[in-house]
Amino acid sequence: MRIPGWLHDLASVIYPDRCPVCGCTLAAGEHTLCLKCFAELPRTGIHTSGFNEIHRRTAHRTHIERAAAFFHYERHSPYSRLIHLAKYRNRPRIAEELAETYAREIAPSGFFDGISMIEPVPLHWLRQIARGYNQSLYIAYGISAATGIPVGDHLRASRLQRSQTHRSAQARHQAAEGLYHAVYTEELQGQHILIVDDVITTGSTVRACCNAIAAASPDTRCSILALSMSRND
Ligand SMILES: [Zn+2]
Repeated sequence: MRIPGWLHDLASVIYPDRCPVCGCTLAAGEHTLCLKCFAELPRTGIHTSGFNEIHRRTAHRTHIERAAAFFHYERHSPYSRLIHLAKYRNRPRIAEELAETYAREIAPSGFFDGISMIEPVPLHWLRQIARGYNQSLYIAYGISAATGIPVGDHLRASRLQRSQTHRSAQARHQAAEGLYHAVYTEELQGQHILIVDDVITTGSTVRACCNAIAAASPDTRCSILALSMSRND
């Protein structure tokens, strides 16, 4: 019998020592995922590419230096539970642990060289109160733990955005423009900022964040890191 997804989620909240992907009990030495699920994680492997799928989706006014995502996100894949639990089920430590693991994996490639600050995509304050945390901040903490790069707090969500799930890429880009603004902008000058998010679909969110930084501080360089990216926008 196939276990329904919601029951799996519930079990993962009640028994956090289980692998969120397959549900098996984690053995000693296993963290976040069991070794089998970790080995089979659908990695994107795009972090070394100078112009990859994230660059393509975010190409606009602002130049993006480097871009990376840990794994491919597919709605019905059991790996999507990692994002779901981190975002909606009060398990942001999953995002933190995965981000730290990913950062340690790609650091030897030079991905983080010259990056001086990590900036999480902000939540509007009303959404943050409702959720109790910003999952992207935990991603930033994980990267910071692996790299020593400090976490900044220079982005704000200007207004509450409704769900974009069923809108076209063009509509999402338009809706996201002007959604974010930068603060304490003098601290951004001359910096190389890493914008971090949980999932990249159309890229409109991270693109709007990069545009907000560029508008406030034109000499600031931006790179992007996400835990996951959808296969299709
Ligand atoms: Zn597993």
